[in-house]
Amino acid sequence: MKKPLNEMTLVFWSRSANEGFSRAAAAAFFSQLDPTVEELADIKTAVSEAVTNCIVHAYRDTLGKIKLTARIYEGGGVYIQIKDSGCGIADVKKAMEPLFTTCETGERAGLGFAVMQSFMDKVSVRSAPGKGTTVTLRRTLSSRGADEPQPR
Ligand code: ATP
Ligand code: MG
Repeated sequence: MKKPLNEMTLVFWSRSANEGFSRAAAAAFFSQLDPTVEELADIKTAVSEAVTNCIVHAYRDTLGKIKLTARIYEGGGVYIQIKDSGCGIADVKKAMEPLFTTCETGERAGLGFAVMQSFMDKVSVRSAPGKGTTVTLRRTLSSRGADEPQPR
């Protein structure tokens, strides 16, 4: 893959307060691409779903670290990776099916991955039970020209 134009990494605990923090931090980072309000809202929603999954599923009865890496590529390329070292997912394909949830209390709709997929161009998930999960979100901001704007 080509070298990114810019990159940042955040590591934070799986406290529910950090869902809003990480979403705002990602939005602040990608603001340098001058996205539309809608593009930024889509990115925030996707990040929020992925981070919430780490908080409520990966580290369900415990507290652990979440690592968010954000990159900007030429031509408005947005790349976000959210990594946890939690319980992992036994069957990723099944977990990504709309309405699939392991939550038994009825609180969750099982739509987090579907939401990420609808707001981003590409969502990939790597997971190993007992080791953790890495979710990668990609999108090219269509509001931007081929080589503009770029971070300074
Ligand atoms: P919703 O997102 O609508 O509140 P949900 O979180 O159950 O509900 P998804 O976000 O689509 O739905 O996730 C589907 C399932 O995949 C979860 O119920 C959970 O079992 C599993 N899962 C998702 N992310 C992780 C993760 N980071 N670690 C462990 N399991 C996960
Ligand atoms: Mg979810």
